[in-house]
Amino acid sequence: MKKSLCTLLVLPATLFLFAQSVSFGPDVAFNDFKGRFIEALWKANPGWATENGYHKWDSVLTVPNEASRTERRQWATRYLDSLNSYPLQHLDVANQTDWKLIQNQLKSAIWSIDTKKEYQWNPAQYNVTGGIAYMLSEPYDKLENRLRNIRFKLEKVAAYYDAAKAAISNPATVLKGLAIQQNEGGLPALQKDIVDSVKKSGLPQNEKKATLAAAAEAVTAINDYIEWLKALPETDARNFRLGKPLYDAEFTYDIESSLTADELYKAATDRKEYLTTEMAKKADTLWRKYFGNTTKPTDRYTLIRKVIDTVSATHVKPADFRSSIEKQIPKLAAFVRSKNLLYLDPSKPLKVRDEPGYMAGVAGASVSAPGPYDKGGKTYYNVGSLDGWAPQRAESYLREYNDYTMQILNIHEAIPGHYAQLVYANKSPDIIKAILGNGSMIEGWAVYSELMMMEAGYDPSPEMWLMYYKWNLRSVCNTILDISVHTRDMTKEAAMDLLVRQAFQQQAEAEGKWKRVSVSHVQLTSYFNGFYEILRLRDAWKAKMGAAYSVKDFNEKFLSYGSVPVKYISEMMLGGK
Ligand code: ZN
Ligand code: ZN
Repeated sequence: MKKSLCTLLVLPATLFLFAQSVSFGPDVAFNDFKGRFIEALWKANPGWATENGYHKWDSVLTVPNEASRTERRQWATRYLDSLNSYPLQHLDVANQTDWKLIQNQLKSAIWSIDTKKEYQWNPAQYNVTGGIAYMLSEPYDKLENRLRNIRFKLEKVAAYYDAAKAAISNPATVLKGLAIQQNEGGLPALQKDIVDSVKKSGLPQNEKKATLAAAAEAVTAINDYIEWLKALPETDARNFRLGKPLYDAEFTYDIESSLTADELYKAATDRKEYLTTEMAKKADTLWRKYFGNTTKPTDRYTLIRKVIDTVSATHVKPADFRSSIEKQIPKLAAFVRSKNLLYLDPSKPLKVRDEPGYMAGVAGASVSAPGPYDKGGKTYYNVGSLDGWAPQRAESYLREYNDYTMQILNIHEAIPGHYAQLVYANKSPDIIKAILGNGSMIEGWAVYSELMMMEAGYDPSPEMWLMYYKWNLRSVCNTILDISVHTRDMTKEAAMDLLVRQAFQQQAEAEGKWKRVSVSHVQLTSYFNGFYEILRLRDAWKAKMGAAYSVKDFNEKFLSYGSVPVKYISEMMLGGK
């Protein structure tokens, strides 16, 4: 249920606070309903609650059997009925959006059980170790209390995997492989981390023994599940492609776009052609500078690729990776201020920190923000280091994050991208928008902010534009790839041609993307969808404002509604409210 956002980890979150404006009549009643809904949502989704920092149901592991699905379906239907008793048109605009977010969540839950039936075909959705590892590593409560709750969960693990085996039939081979890999990957949490934690805890001896015994039984259950999966016959394996009917529905629920998947596909194809044309122009301009009188390739893909490969060699030394990222943040903020692009709250500076241990190996940069219940929590910009990397690996990574793209990365993740958006989202705090927030709006803003900085003249060199276009092309091709693979039978060969020859990616990056699209659906469209919808809205807003238009005004107004689908922000901005 948890929404995964950026490929670089982003945990969007908003401070928890209810209806700060004065509300009357229907809104007061609806605010009460929202409170009850959230309580019920957590009860129905204990693991999701834990991840969000709500710990009342930490001891519960729901056994994924027919009975719990029926109960879940009844729950969603009941709350959909209650929701419908609050007439939408009587609510204020902010509550109308919450109403629609809740409706979408409930309808999606019912559709998942009745129609999508992922519980039958995706064995990777069964995994208990992630939640347990989270409870072990996050110090939100005394270790002893966390271990007691973990023990209750562990005692349900055997029943949990029995239910999984009963539900699964003919899973796609690639999803079976993923399930095996991820369940194996989680075992050390139960075999080692729990044992270490129990030892250092102050639990009484008998509880220590019982917890370790429960962990050992859980390990046996997981190993049985892995063996059971390995023994499944390949003959009737389901196609890993979602297919158009399911894809279109999931796109509607998860992206909450104003476009259909087909319309988005068309927009992405147009954008790809535009970017390729522009890249060819920039590569043409740069040819003499880097290649002198060498004959220019006539094929535009070859021309672009050669120039990109050459420009990518401009990068920092591995030892300077972290410091160069840190130095860039104040420069970005200064540029945003000097060009009047967006108000940045000076009381909320971005805190850069070394990547914490549990993220080690990811490198790059990412934003982590406190959960909706963690009022005092801080937001951090985690920056990894390349210490200890083999020279070849570091070189290939630094070519990817060269002097140009590293700046775009910082714009996307930090300022004015994800970090700036989070600060705005926290200003209009609302628990519904924090929990049911829209991933495509969040990613779309970050992708839009890259273009906005380039338009403002951040670095007008042809090298920077070329690398920006390549970066933007990645989001565009994510969308083309996802829709093509899941609804149009795109082959792996065609996918690799799209990513490597036509989008100038490295072979390894493209291979990784193929793996990702084989085990996920729809999420890869969120980046370009949000970007495209924001640009469309900005055009309409410009037309509406005429001479009074300013980019700062647009950006601040856009961000003031919180992390809600762009289509609802469009209604509010263009509807004159
Ligand atoms: Zn992102
Ligand atoms: Zn190099």
